[in-house]
Amino acid sequence: MKPSDRSGSSLYDSDVFRMACRQFDLAADLIDLDRDVRERTKLPKRCLTVTVPVKHDDGVVRIYEGYRVQHHLSLGPTKGGIRFHPGVTIGEVAALAMWMSWKCALAGLPYGGAKGGVAVDPHALSRRELEALSRRYMQEMIPFVGPSIDVAAPDMGTNEQVMAWMMDTYSNQVGNSVPAVVTGKPIAVGGSEGRREATGHGVAYLIKRQLESMSLRPQDATAVIQGFGNVGAEAALALRGYGVRIVAISDVSGGFHNPRGIDLEAALLHQAKHRTLAGWAGGDAVSNVELLELPCTVLVPAAMERVITADNAGRLRCRVLAEAANGPTTNDADLILQARGDVEIIPDILCNAGGVVVSYFEWVQDLQSLFWTRAEVLVKLCAILDRASEAVERQRVRLGCPRRLAALALGIGRVAEAKASRGLFP
Ligand code: GLU
Repeated sequence: MKPSDRSGSSLYDSDVFRMACRQFDLAADLIDLDRDVRERTKLPKRCLTVTVPVKHDDGVVRIYEGYRVQHHLSLGPTKGGIRFHPGVTIGEVAALAMWMSWKCALAGLPYGGAKGGVAVDPHALSRRELEALSRRYMQEMIPFVGPSIDVAAPDMGTNEQVMAWMMDTYSNQVGNSVPAVVTGKPIAVGGSEGRREATGHGVAYLIKRQLESMSLRPQDATAVIQGFGNVGAEAALALRGYGVRIVAISDVSGGFHNPRGIDLEAALLHQAKHRTLAGWAGGDAVSNVELLELPCTVLVPAAMERVITADNAGRLRCRVLAEAANGPTTNDADLILQARGDVEIIPDILCNAGGVVVSYFEWVQDLQSLFWTRAEVLVKLCAILDRASEAVERQRVRLGCPRRLAALALGIGRVAEAKASRGLFP
């Protein structure tokens, strides 16, 4: 069996994990990664599966499956979000953990990648049930997490409140407040200024840079955004701040197209009242599939992975594809876009890195108990994003490859270098 065949037979086997492994293989080939370090850089170091029992309001105890994958331990604690979504599988969590590793390395953060998840629809739970689930998940993780072991954060279906419950649960166990065990917390319990909007802010900042490099003015650009959660909504607001016209948005319930510009405040208000955009009247209704093919300057997938596929890649009508979601573009779609040559991709591990960069700032502030202003956070965030995107451009020219492979090659190369320098124990 060739080493790279391992991914097909592992416990993580799934379309999304195979996709992450395929990306790894392509980038590792490109930099001619040494065989000895290759497989141990690629495959996740640890995974944990737990059962999470929750007593529901109707008195019935239901069991949920929870996961945490810690991808590599060579550079510091592992870092990554926790996802609550009915479709969560261990394979998906493992793929997301791999991407966190390359993302952190690309941004120069002293972390390995991790991801966690629970297969649950958080919106079907009452607030009390959600709290019970969050606390019990963290309780099950206690031997495996900590500020110098593994630091969680929000992802799809989780938020600041969930992080606060998890921080409280961990702190109660050890007997003192440990804010640095999770990031993305409310500011009241050691969260960072700027963290909530960090991912969307970073996405918009990198889009602005990309438009500038194409000599396009933000005022002349339009954007279509799939996903109106924390990332999509904050990206929309920040893009609009730069002068970009947002012409379509969507969430799980479907989307809206308005070539004159979406009223973002009205959409947020509707969503706050009704939880989704369903029933809103801010534009022509479009499905999430149709939305991706609308004409625009910038397409921003900010929801699920694997939404740009061989089926629709040929029909995208954007000039820039800004991957705010993790893994939105399949390997086959990548090949189609590469052959087309008319869509500039800002790859996920660069595009959405703003979130984990400010998580890193939050962790640093918690450890030193000294907090920064929002302006300080944003200046430092932009400096890291500038450095990372300049490094990707240099790598792209050096290797003569698409931007995604350049970004992956940098991230993977740094992790492999750390492993090679530390050597193999025993
Ligand atoms: N869940 C986010 C991501 O996918 C943030 C992770 C973090 O802040 O640790 O990058």
